[in-house]
Amino acid sequence: MGFSKPAPEKRAMITETPLVIESLTDISQSPDPDSWNQVLAGAAKKVEALLKQLNIPVTELTLRQQACLDFPLLVPQPFIDKMEKGNAQDPLLLQVLPQREELEAAEGFINDPLAEKHSNLQKGIIHKYHGRVLVLLSTGCAINCRYCFRRHFAYSENRIGKNDWQGILDYVSQDPTIEELILSGGDPLMLSDQQLKKFIQQAEAIPHLQRLRIHTRLPVVIPQRITTTLINILHSCRFSCAIVLHINHSQELDPILIKGLDSLRRAGITLLNQAVLLRDINDNLETQIDLSKALFAAGILPYYLHLLDKVTGAHHFNVSEKDALVLHQQLLLKLSGYLVPKLVKEESGKGSKTPLVLIS
Ligand code: SF4
Repeated sequence: MGFSKPAPEKRAMITETPLVIESLTDISQSPDPDSWNQVLAGAAKKVEALLKQLNIPVTELTLRQQACLDFPLLVPQPFIDKMEKGNAQDPLLLQVLPQREELEAAEGFINDPLAEKHSNLQKGIIHKYHGRVLVLLSTGCAINCRYCFRRHFAYSENRIGKNDWQGILDYVSQDPTIEELILSGGDPLMLSDQQLKKFIQQAEAIPHLQRLRIHTRLPVVIPQRITTTLINILHSCRFSCAIVLHINHSQELDPILIKGLDSLRRAGITLLNQAVLLRDINDNLETQIDLSKALFAAGILPYYLHLLDKVTGAHHFNVSEKDALVLHQQLLLKLSGYLVPKLVKEESGKGSKTPLVLIS
């Protein structure tokens, strides 16, 4: 998706092509009350207030609050605005609303399902796969998704600041097999544009690095995060850049987000999506078809459909492998191949994600 970037020497700052940006506000540099970090500061943190705002009866409050002790509620207003008022089963609400099931133990569900602590070789780095390394550039997110496989991750031990960047970059410099830097988290776009720019500029000095991948959900929950500064940073760096978004339901796409994504795409940034298959949220054929079509219409290629990672507190989201395979097969029969994401699961200790295919 997206067209290729021009050669580095021909790349100019995107401000020279106002067509791309004229409709976006560069809120990263202004005190605009709608700036993304101000929107983030006003995110909902209380179950009661969230449900009341949606005109949904407040039930099981004590249990929901108990679930929040382990993993707090955090939902920015633009994401709440995409929910249907009065609908307790809204697919966006179900992704963020603490439930009593989170307090139940379930067989096979553990705190670190991917055994990431074994790949967490150095503060801020997870090195699992050949050729690429994952950098936990930020330990925070703009939203807390209840199914998150890192909900128990030892972020406190991986809280990195600018002083830790050199150690990370040294690690990458010393391994010439690493061609790709994956910025993850938490959410790497929690960093300010200026911080991101500095990190990327330092990474550009490592000659064997070719590609930069950013895994983020932030623009989906606060579309204002796609600033012109961010677009410029990615457009003008020497790396081939991809943004892997995390969108689980077509209802998560809104006009402001689509406009921002269009600007990124026009700036030569490849846009991919990975979704998680979630029970009662997107585990039916119609919802998956709608998602793939909506993603492609927004310039995003459906890339992965993940089975849930079996993390403690998320068993109620689980879709069995058998049901997932049947759904995926139905998708293949209904959509063009490029609209069907790869169905995958992640298994600790494996050298890649495991693709799942129905064997008839
Ligand atoms: S945005 Fe991603 S990392 Fe953050 S809570 Fe949601 S799933 Fe987890």
